[in-house]
Amino acid sequence: MYEEHLKAARGVKFGLQFKATLENVTNVRPLGDDFRWFLKFKCGNCGEVPDKWQYVTLVESVPLKGGRGSASMVQKCKLCARENSIDILKDTITPYNAEDNERFKTMVQFECRGLEPIDFQPQAGFAAQGAESGTQFPEINLQEKDWTDYDEKVSESVGIYEVTHQFKKC
Ligand SMILES: [Zn+2]
Repeated sequence: MYEEHLKAARGVKFGLQFKATLENVTNVRPLGDDFRWFLKFKCGNCGEVPDKWQYVTLVESVPLKGGRGSASMVQKCKLCARENSIDILKDTITPYNAEDNERFKTMVQFECRGLEPIDFQPQAGFAAQGAESGTQFPEINLQEKDWTDYDEKVSESVGIYEVTHQFKKC
């Protein structure tokens, strides 16, 4: 019983792996603690998948029942009423660099208790920099899975294309 409780408290870690084709940019990353990770989750108890996107962000913290600390998001399953929660593991946030081009790389890990992330939708809030120039691009929206701009410092086009993702149990 005690072990079961520990397991529940610890949760399961899932890595969000990001993949894209980079053109003359590197250091693609979520910018700031208020970055919103838009996700869909599956309830581990009954298998329910709510239709709408939900987001988690480092700036939000919700207390867990019974004084078990806090989580980035607590969600009561609409079908089975179980209380599930998720945490963003801040220290795992890693930029996607030029050398990662066209390969899956874990960008962040989530600690999940009772649920599992099954889909991710990148939106606004990403940043990147020119691979050679260092030019900062602080407002990148990846909702269309493609982004393009122009680096005036080196007179070349820059872009992030064909953004895809997968989840991996850590
Ligand atoms: Zn459920």
